[in-house]
This record gives sequence, C-alpha cells and structure tokens, in this order.
Amino acid sequence: RPAGAKPDISREKSSVLFEKAKKYFPGGVNSPVRAFKSVYGTPLFIEKGDGCFLWDVDGNQFIDFCCSWGPLILGHNHSKIKEAVTIALEKGLSFGAPTALENELAELILKHNKYIERLRFVSSGTEAVMSAIRLARGYTKRDKIIKFEGCYHGHSDALLVKAGSGLVTFGETSSLGVPKAFANETIVVGLNDKEALSKAFEDFKGEIAAVIIEGVPANNGLLLQSKEYIQFLREITQTHGSLLIFDEVITGFRLGFEGAAAYYGIQPDILTYGKIIGGGMPVGAYGASAELMSYISPDGGVYQAGTLSGNPVAMAAGIAQLTELSKAGFYKDLNKKTEEFVTAIQRYVSAKNYKVTLFHVASIFWIAFTDQEQIQTACAIDPKSIEKYKILHRELLNRGVYLGPSGYEVGFVSAAHTKIELEKAKRAIFESLDVVF
Ligand code: PLP
Repeated sequence: RPAGAKPDISREKSSVLFEKAKKYFPGGVNSPVRAFKSVYGTPLFIEKGDGCFLWDVDGNQFIDFCCSWGPLILGHNHSKIKEAVTIALEKGLSFGAPTALENELAELILKHNKYIERLRFVSSGTEAVMSAIRLARGYTKRDKIIKFEGCYHGHSDALLVKAGSGLVTFGETSSLGVPKAFANETIVVGLNDKEALSKAFEDFKGEIAAVIIEGVPANNGLLLQSKEYIQFLREITQTHGSLLIFDEVITGFRLGFEGAAAYYGIQPDILTYGKIIGGGMPVGAYGASAELMSYISPDGGVYQAGTLSGNPVAMAAGIAQLTELSKAGFYKDLNKKTEEFVTAIQRYVSAKNYKVTLFHVASIFWIAFTDQEQIQTACAIDPKSIEKYKILHRELLNRGVYLGPSGYEVGFVSAAHTKIELEKAKRAIFESLDVVF
C-alpha cells in the first residue's frame, strides 16, 4: 500500500452477502457497475441511508456522493418524501388505472417547464429514451438515429451501439444480443465534431429520424459541451427535418427544474426524464409538444404502455421531491455549495501540482486525472489515468466518503450535504489524493 494509506474498512458482512449474491445473480448484482469491477474490494451492501449519509451492513458510515446515481437530490430518506409515500401506500400499491396523483405530478412539472406540453410517465430512464426514439421514428417515418460516442441512454437495443475511432462508426454493437440489423440503424458520431455530424447527415440524407444527446454528457466522465455546439445540433436537425432529443435522465431537475433545455436556452423536440423525477422510486418520463405527443397510443399510432406506469406510490414520491425543488432559491443554494466545494478541491490540487482537474456543472462533478482544462469528447480521456481512481476510491471509502465505483462516474451533491459534511469530505479528498500522488 502507498505511503499514507489508511487500513481498509471491514467488509466482512458485505463479503458474505456478495458470495451469496453470486449464487443468485450474474456477477452477484442486479446492475453491472454495482459489482465494483473497476475498484478495489467487494461491493458494499447497504443497510440504510439518511440525509447525506449511507451505512453499510458492517456498520461503516459514509458521506454519499453517488446518491443512488443521481435521483436523491434531497438526500436519503427525506421526511417529506417518506411522509408522502406512507400516505400513498396506505391506499394501495398499484391499480393499473389512472389516479389523481399522476395529474398532480404532471401539473407540477408542466407548470414549471416550458419545454414540454404533454408527457407520459414510464418506469425507468431506459424506457423513457426507448419510447422517445420510437416516437421520433413514428413521427418522421424514418429509421436511423444518431447518437454520440460516450453518451449512455439506457440499455435498449438501438442505443447499445459502440463508437469506434473513426469519424462516423456504423453498426458496431457494444453488447452481445443486439442484432446487427438493429445496430445498423444507429450511427455513432464523436461529440463536439460538427464535420462528422454533417457528414453523417449527408451520407444518410433523408434517413435520420433523430439526433439524441445527453443534456450534459455525464456517463463517460463529465463532457461539457458549448452552447454553440448544442445550437448547431438544433440547427442541423431542423435543416434535415430530423428531431432533436435531449436525454435529461441525469440533467432533468438537476441543472434546474427545466434541466439542460433551460441551461442552454434551446428547445429540443423530445425530452426524456428519469432519476430525480421519481424521488428515489422507479419513474421515467418523456415529453414533447402536444402535437408530437398526439402520435402516442391510444390516440396515435406509436404504441407504448406499462403495467406499473404512473404507479401511485412512485408518483407520490415524485410530487414530494419536485415540490421541494420548485421552491425559490433551491438550485441557487445547491449549485453555490457545489461550486465552493469543487473550487476548494481544485485549488488544493493546483497548489500541489497534482494532475487532476475537477469538472462540474450545477451539482454534478467529476474528478478527472488529467491536466487538460477541457475534456469534451470520450476519446480525450486517457484510460490509463482512470487507474488512479481505484486508489482514490479505496482511500475515500477508508475515510468515510462514498463515490461511484468507477472513474468514469460523476458525483452528485445533494441538498442534504451540509457545510460541515462537505468540509469533512474535502479533507478526506485532500488526504486521499496525497496518497494517490
Ligand atoms: N439516460 C441517461 C442519461 C442515464 O444516465 C441513464 C442511466 O444512468 C439512462 C438513460 C437509463 O436510465 P435507467 O437506468 O433508469 O433505465
């Protein structure tokens, strides 16, 4: 172990549970990154969460910056959400029929979001994006879509297509089981590369249904794009009669109540949501103009349905969370807190000449092992630099700070992170980086 390294926390009970889990689930988990494949040790099995804290089954306590991968913008176990969920579940868990709660959540969203006129609730981000793609195809009567290298949009077939190193890659899947014929309908282009995108539109003239981009690409590090580039996406899609989809599963209700659309001041054609919208329960949504959404079943010909869509308990959690977020000053306070946190860490690493850059937007941050001041494309990340994250992650766990178990994952600050805890987390990050370097 390097100088200054702390002894490892106990993972005794987590290890026993993980061995057992391996008998039940592939890789012992129900979602791959949870397996801690890119960091040290067995995954921690969580006992409970409260505010900005997590406790594992071995009794270790952590300040949590993973926040369930983004949904928990108010922190764990928020009293208002707990109360709303308790009231809803007293009345029953699921009816498969409309409830007033769906109207209430929709009204709250539409009242504060001028970028959509109608929406449909689903149960995950994957479903939201998959349905948005189907809508774009149904509306334009075209089959091909363009996505960007490094953007993750859930695990539906059309979007599990890998980028290569060329300007435009075509039909290269990144998962077994995705038929070549499906992958052939997805064109992958590098981010921030106007030429490649223009070429794709020329190569497949009249065939592109939609261009899809994450509001701010945040699944392969944090790849901050310029407003000018996003404006270019808006213009080129309009020129070619294609739709522009903002996948706001991370950025929706995170960059502000109106997400990345308002952050850039750009109107996309379809927007997708997930994570925060459900207050920690499984909810996703996609929305667009009333005209576009009229293409969805039962009135339109684009079919989409869900047994648990608009589930009352999940709606109640979403209403409680979004009500808090719609209050004046919520985002200003959260973003300011994050800015101070990130700036202090950046100042520390700069003074120590560590090859580290902190990228951030609103309350999302990414610790990158690089001295580049800008990283806008997936290929600008040196995979070797990510190795350093393994040491950082282990040292942080040993100092009571929980970050996502991969160097490509971003961190989230929640309203529950107090000044005191952020100060403690900062110290832990300083000490851990001292060990790394
Ligand atoms: N889109 C983006 C931008 C995401 O980050 C994710 C998940 O991380 C998804 C879609 C898929 O959402 P879910 O995991 O809820 O299916």
